[in-house]
Amino acid sequence: MTALSTIAFLGLGNMGLPMVRNLVKAGFAVRTYDLSAEAIATAERDGARGAPSMQAAVADVDCVFTMLPTGVDVEGVYRGPAGLLATTRPGALLVDSSTISSAISRTLAAEALAAGRVMLDAPVSGGTPGAHAGTLTFMVGGDPAEVERIRPVLEAMGKRIVHVGPNGAGHTAKLCNNMLSGACMIATTEALALGEANGLDPQVLSEVLRTSSGGNYALEKYSPYPGIMPNVPSSNGYKGGFRSDFQLKDMRLAKQLAAQMRVRTTIGDIACDLFELHCRSGYAKADYSSIIAQLMTVAGDPGVDWS
Ligand code: NAD
Repeated sequence: MTALSTIAFLGLGNMGLPMVRNLVKAGFAVRTYDLSAEAIATAERDGARGAPSMQAAVADVDCVFTMLPTGVDVEGVYRGPAGLLATTRPGALLVDSSTISSAISRTLAAEALAAGRVMLDAPVSGGTPGAHAGTLTFMVGGDPAEVERIRPVLEAMGKRIVHVGPNGAGHTAKLCNNMLSGACMIATTEALALGEANGLDPQVLSEVLRTSSGGNYALEKYSPYPGIMPNVPSSNGYKGGFRSDFQLKDMRLAKQLAAQMRVRTTIGDIACDLFELHCRSGYAKADYSSIIAQLMTVAGDPGVDWS
């Protein structure tokens, strides 16, 4: 099994940039490309090599990561004469860490195989704090031998690397997770709003809930209430982090999966509708924890025009 040493990374946003930083720190040679020249310059300051085009970034590397907004973006960079399936070197390992539909990912993996490349889906959980700290969880779908080949690279960016099944299975796991985390975030903001309306201090209440049976990721690591945790979007005007329209994208994909398999996901469906309303009321680009603003007044309320 040959070790992977040269990596191209496409998509240098809230997640991609800190992931690249950790790859560089671990000693990998990383070439980067993004539509934003500013993002490429930031990655260069972190020790990666910027490229003038996607094709220049991916030529001759062992492995290409994509960390892009949507399935349409991923299909766009994979297909066509200038796409990854045609311009990477034969045998290259293509790893998609964006969150997209499992069905699209399975189709792209089959197209990759037909084109002499190998694809894995490796979406992540842990958010921007996990991307910065190098503690992401990777949920990987694809050939087990290829998962072992990529494992040392993923370990530079994450703490838990879980092979969940064949191609597409990583995205299925990720969509289950995001349906749950979206619903938990809404339920957490409801509990805080109820407590505050009855005279409780949200900080004191958060501490009680965190260590009680209502404890969850939002209370533990991603407080939606400003000033409780220093390094989360709620303490930074709900900037950065995980956009509400991305949360909506993932909850819609989960809803589609549920409908296809005839699984009842009542709470997930309601949470999806609430995120849709939130995005429509001007918060699409604000971090998803800003959904608290639908229920209570918070400092730094991003009730400005974010769309
Ligand atoms: P982002 O919008 O911050 O970054 C996306 C980047 O991709 C941008 O810099 C954009 O310029 C670039 N891009 C778009 N099209 C491109 C193309 N054709 N070629 C090169 N670059 C291109 O998004 P993000 O928050 O980093 O999220 C990326 C993906 O990861 C999404 O699918 C999201 O759902 C998922 N995700 C995000 C988080 C999070 O907390 N932000 C957590 C887990 C998973």
